[in-house]
Amino acid sequence: MAPPRHILKLSREEQRQFINSFDMVISDCDGVVWLLVGWIPGTGAAVNALKAAGKQIKFVSNNSFRSEADYMENFRHIGAQNVQEDDVVHPVKTIVRYLQKHNPGERVYSLMSLEANETLRKHNIEYESLNIKEHLTAATLVNYLAIEKPVGAVLFDIHLDMSYVELAKAIRHLQENPDCKLIAGGSDVIMPLAENLNVAGFFDFLEHVKRYTGREATFLGKPSPILGEMFGEMFEIGEPKRCIFIGDTLVQDVQFGKSCGFQSLLVLSGCLTKEDMLNAPVDAQPDYYADSLADFTQLLENLKE
Ligand SMILES: [Mg+2]
Repeated sequence: MAPPRHILKLSREEQRQFINSFDMVISDCDGVVWLLVGWIPGTGAAVNALKAAGKQIKFVSNNSFRSEADYMENFRHIGAQNVQEDDVVHPVKTIVRYLQKHNPGERVYSLMSLEANETLRKHNIEYESLNIKEHLTAATLVNYLAIEKPVGAVLFDIHLDMSYVELAKAIRHLQENPDCKLIAGGSDVIMPLAENLNVAGFFDFLEHVKRYTGREATFLGKPSPILGEMFGEMFEIGEPKRCIFIGDTLVQDVQFGKSCGFQSLLVLSGCLTKEDMLNAPVDAQPDYYADSLADFTQLLENLKE
């Protein structure tokens, strides 16, 4: 396999062929369109330029601790025009779809953010969650871990307020009910929080739950193949090769895009450097790379000359 090529280092003719090779762009959000805390210059203009060139753009994130309104506000902030709520997919949305299909009417236990729980509430999914601010003793912990009603699933996602007692209760539910499912959204190893600040993600908290329950999680965030199948239902994707997946990580984005049969492009505005990309096994590398999504604006300008 040829090493990934920078889209602005392609010849004019190759740039034209590249742009003509896809009709749909599916882009990750954090590290591509913006940072969890902070902005990436020129990304809104790039989204608009791609749309003006006739491309459909959808967004997929492993982050459900931003509300729907926050997503829309971010797109407004970067100046991306005509982005609708349905253009954005993130774990709690896929979890709701999954529950409606496989566990309709069942009560669940949520290890997810307040924003994600709000989405459950809007979809009339009955959920239990613990939001404990008091100082715990062994005696009060026993009370919180008592199971009053069993649940059909434990939902795990990035949840910045996650606490020991919430994890312990999730484990209790799974231990008590052998039919209780473990469903996971965002469980990334690393979270790019701000410029030059990558922090540990939630992967090991999920491992902790698995270790004490022996339960394997059903993953519904990137890079889950179930999410790939859902794309087929949510977006009209004709030929996968005519879709390009843009992300800033190799596993959640590039590998996921490849597993869906999409073309893949890595941007260097998030988690990884060019060296990280080139040091990865060849089959884990993307087809293309760019410094930032903003490079698309330049590329489309080049083609006007
Ligand atoms: Mg990302």
